[in-house]
Amino acid sequence: MIYADNAATTKMSRTAIDAMLPYLENGFGNPSSLHTIGQRAAEALSQARATIAHCLGCRPDELYFTSGGSEADNQALLSAARAGRARGHTHIISTAFEHHAVLHTLKKLEAEGFQLTLLDVHEDGLITPEQVAQALRPDTCLVTIMYANNEIGTIQPIPEIGALCKEHKVPFHTDAVQAVGHLPIHVKEQNIDMLSLSAHKFHGPKGVGVLYARKGLPLYPLIEGGAQERGKRAGTENLPGIVSMAAALEESCAQMEAEAQRLSALQTQLIDGLSAIPHAALNGHRTRRLPGNVSFCFEGIEGESLLLLLDDRGICASSGSACTSGSLDPSHVLLAIGRPHEVAHGSLRLSLSRHNTQEEVDAMLRDIPPVIQQLRDMSPVWRDLQKGVRSYVIQ
Ligand SMILES: *Cc1c(COP(=O)(O)O)cnc(C)c1O
Repeated sequence: MIYADNAATTKMSRTAIDAMLPYLENGFGNPSSLHTIGQRAAEALSQARATIAHCLGCRPDELYFTSGGSEADNQALLSAARAGRARGHTHIISTAFEHHAVLHTLKKLEAEGFQLTLLDVHEDGLITPEQVAQALRPDTCLVTIMYANNEIGTIQPIPEIGALCKEHKVPFHTDAVQAVGHLPIHVKEQNIDMLSLSAHKFHGPKGVGVLYARKGLPLYPLIEGGAQERGKRAGTENLPGIVSMAAALEESCAQMEAEAQRLSALQTQLIDGLSAIPHAALNGHRTRRLPGNVSFCFEGIEGESLLLLLDDRGICASSGSACTSGSLDPSHVLLAIGRPHEVAHGSLRLSLSRHNTQEEVDAMLRDIPPVIQQLRDMSPVWRDLQKGVRSYVIQ
């Protein structure tokens, strides 16, 4: 099997598994306990926090452990909104192609009276600092813009947007779930006030993540209970997960540069190879994207059928579109970059990781084009396009 769906989740690394095991066994203590076993757990928790702080360029007491990226996004947005409302500031700036953990939280805030400006995403999958500058208002209480998009991989100009927010004294949050462990991140140098990350996107375990919040920013708990995480996140800490996440992040950061180079080379081959298919278009900017991300739209096919046929050939991939309650909605990301509905349905995302090899890329380049042809041969839409009854959207 070829696993090319690393934007959905990654395989845990040996390092991450080994780091976790002692805390499932004798290191099972509760970090809040005063006895020796508890204090050993507290020491491991503190070590993990220091490691992650070092990787992100912040202080350990600016990190809050969560159950993952979604929780971190929710807490960041709801905290900034609450602090904003207390000062009469109820305007929020974001983009149309955020992850649903951000978009759905924003919709909830909008229903509660906040005003949203969702910036239009350029057809290359990028937004500009100028767009943010134009959207800023005296009552803006939050700017939240994802670091790298999970479907099309495009990387936003985060340090520049952060500098702008700093200048206007508006808190800046970034959902960096796809970026952490894959791109160099330094929250202070990049002017980031709040950042969300998730361990399972960089070969750590599922169900654990981090919210970084700059010292001094108001943060409110989503979950009430004990005084863990300095009163901002109640509940006994997921110590095996947290220790494992720290080990996975340290490992990813150590091999980041070499891995990015290797993946970029494989990415280029995939992009060049798939671009040769007639009426195919790359989604997102060609170079300003995550090194492992390849996203295409193919005219005249259904992404879901493509995935099933690829799965038969041992290729695990993803399409942009998500099945929502039985109805097939095309991906909001592809619509945001201006792909029409019928084209957005014919999408394919390949996301590579350190486990993918040259041989796998060769196999994908051999197997994907004939499968697309097979689907087109069966498609009434493709027949109409060929006959000229319909015109091609992708030339
Ligand atoms: C995966 C992902 C999330 C959600 O993280 P979980 O840990 O699965 O909750 C949020 N944002 C982006 C961009 C993601 O890719």
